[in-house]
Amino acid sequence: MDATAKRLLAWYDRQARALPWRSPPGTPPPEPYRVWLSEVMLQQTTVAAVGPYFARFLERWPTVSDLAAADDADVMAAWAGLGYYARARNLLACARAVAARGGTFPSSEGELRELPGLGAYTAAAVAAIAFGERAAVVDANVERVAARLFAIAEPLPGARAAIRARVLGLTPAERPGDFAQAMMDLGATVCTVRNPRCAICPLAEGCQGRIAGAEHFPVKAPKKARPLRQGRAFWIERDGAVWLVRRPGRGMLGGMRALPDDGWSARADGHGDPPLAGSWTSAGTVRHGFTHFDLEMQLLLYSGGDWARLGGEDGEWWRRDDLDQAGLPTLFAKAARLALA
Ligand code: SF4
Repeated sequence: MDATAKRLLAWYDRQARALPWRSPPGTPPPEPYRVWLSEVMLQQTTVAAVGPYFARFLERWPTVSDLAAADDADVMAAWAGLGYYARARNLLACARAVAARGGTFPSSEGELRELPGLGAYTAAAVAAIAFGERAAVVDANVERVAARLFAIAEPLPGARAAIRARVLGLTPAERPGDFAQAMMDLGATVCTVRNPRCAICPLAEGCQGRIAGAEHFPVKAPKKARPLRQGRAFWIERDGAVWLVRRPGRGMLGGMRALPDDGWSARADGHGDPPLAGSWTSAGTVRHGFTHFDLEMQLLLYSGGDWARLGGEDGEWWRRDDLDQAGLPTLFAKAARLALA
């Protein structure tokens, strides 16, 4: 085993973070379902935020087959607040494919990659952590550690292939899962984005980035400003209940309960009309950042009485006092708070 990997594993044996989806260093690996579920949840989301969601999912759907049998709407509602809702849809697609093969995850990175909705990162993580396969597990923390260790001068995202090759080169055949988690932990607790703690780092000896100045790595291509999109959402209230709709299954926030809106997610301009004719007043705007754009959404309150025109399978009256149980995605939960204030 390479000396760097050896030092890192020795550090991990002492310093591993105790996380609910993990097994302690050197003990039998956790079930693939736990690894997979946690890794999907952790993409773009912090460990602290994921903890309670992970616990609730496991309690409600203890196995991948239980999750596969769940109603889409229940899973989407349970996911509400974690963001990046395509992950929840992919989660279900993958759970159902695993259930169809008897509820057992395949054990190699290549076969895992063939499951629907399971990306390259997650396949590597499950293969390494749950099945002990030597695979390059590269999340944002690992990317930063590797870019610094090897002082990779090529900017991201172009440098990803080189970083992956370096990580695979470092990954030992023995304990590859612990190695992957050790790299993640080092990035999260020592080789942090700001103020990396090189003085206590087990990899300081031989770290090229430390000598050149750790804060220079990873090198990033200049960011393009995200465009700002405008939209409107509509608050219709009647006898202590609010009109909610189910968003179309495909597209942004697909399948989630939401306030009716003017179609900002499908069209950047030329938005649709309010669902009812009549008198609307502005309650203010909420702002929300999506991956490719920021949204400024105005909330309009209805003050007419033309409710009979609302109906159909895609909408329902939801008790105003129970709105926190509607599973609204963050954007619409912000809008609801604005209306209720
Ligand atoms: Fe990161 Fe510093 Fe450790 Fe290098 S020595 S891996 S820059 S914390």
